[in-house]
Amino acid sequence: MERATPIPSRRRLLMGAALATVPSALLAGARAEARPQVVDYPSAEWQPASTSNYTPSNRPTAYPLDYVVVHVTQETYADTLSIFRDPRSQVSAHYVVRSSDGHVAQCVREADVAWHAGNWDYNTRSIGIEHEGWVDRPAYFTDALYEQSARLTAAICTTYGIPKDRAHIIGHHEVPGSDHTDPGPLWDWSRYIRLVNFA
Ligand SMILES: [Zn+2]
Repeated sequence: MERATPIPSRRRLLMGAALATVPSALLAGARAEARPQVVDYPSAEWQPASTSNYTPSNRPTAYPLDYVVVHVTQETYADTLSIFRDPRSQVSAHYVVRSSDGHVAQCVREADVAWHAGNWDYNTRSIGIEHEGWVDRPAYFTDALYEQSARLTAAICTTYGIPKDRAHIIGHHEVPGSDHTDPGPLWDWSRYIRLVNFA
């Protein structure tokens, strides 16, 4: 999660303002407006983030999608969803995966830019997936969490042509400029990448 975000960057504000002036018809297609309840990942539950917490876009037209960024919430699943719903929090991710059963919530459309990486360039080019848990509490990293998240990541990689490898499926700590440590050293990357490739 990226709660340390200070004031939104000037570039982000300008980008948001610029996009806000684009007639909605030009953003049709992948945009959520016409079908607000439809998720991108069929088994996901739609749990929308506040519109104050992400930047509308029409990816992958506006920006290529090059990365999946793996996060750990440092919050419960329910608290994470309520943080994303709070317009003051200035943070979001596309998906949140629940620890106990691997249930997937979608909070931001894949076409839109979620604010999760703490780096505008990486935000524009990535899908962010939050995993319920804490970096130092591996009991939260259940089989169901790994398996369901891997299926989600595999689907995203297939959709956008993102290679299913560690150069493109990265941790938040690997985003340039990030001061976050998630998903942390207890996240089993070799298992996760293997599951993504066999999903
Ligand atoms: Zn994170």
